[in-house]
Amino acid sequence: CGFVAIVGRPNVGKSTLLNHILGQKLSITSRKPQTTRHQVLGIKTEGPIQAIYVDTPGMHEEEPRAINRYMNKAATSALKGVDVAVFVVDQMAWTTADEMVLEKLGSLKCPVILAVNKVDRIENREALLPHLDMLSRKRDFAEIIPLSALKGMNLAPLEEAVGRFLPQSVHFYP
Ligand code: GDP
Repeated sequence: CGFVAIVGRPNVGKSTLLNHILGQKLSITSRKPQTTRHQVLGIKTEGPIQAIYVDTPGMHEEEPRAINRYMNKAATSALKGVDVAVFVVDQMAWTTADEMVLEKLGSLKCPVILAVNKVDRIENREALLPHLDMLSRKRDFAEIIPLSALKGMNLAPLEEAVGRFLPQSVHFYP
């Protein structure tokens, strides 16, 4: 199986996206104290590919606080175990909080897919292009996928991209 980290500042639509992908209601808003490396949000199996979706402690803090130095380290080390990260941003706004998440993704070796969410809000699709261009310069993303988690638009390419970076599990039947 493979590990998929969903990262992004609050309110970009991470839980909405996961609810669509996993097809079930998740209660990731009521987070338990972060005692584990990853908080497992859900598991999806499709053919030989099993993806375990995880949240990463310390990734989504908006305010830099003293504790964050520790949290930053924890976030970075937690991310080391993942096969692919999905970095969710809101097409409406790129903020300093997004910048901080990007920074935490920093030296990550695994591929990072950029999910540009809430495109259903755009009236003029052309207007998205300069924004995508700006985002593409932020980091070498494995893929940049505009989508709408709320309307379920363009989720298949995201799932396909995630699947490409996950190891296939092999089952032996004695
Ligand atoms: P999270 O904090 O990143 O998990 O964000 P949520 O999934 O809780 O979403 C935050 C808000 O954005 C909610 O009001 C969602 O309904 C809204 N939202 C999420 N995805 C979309 C989308 O694709 N389009 C629009 N218009 N709103 C969205």
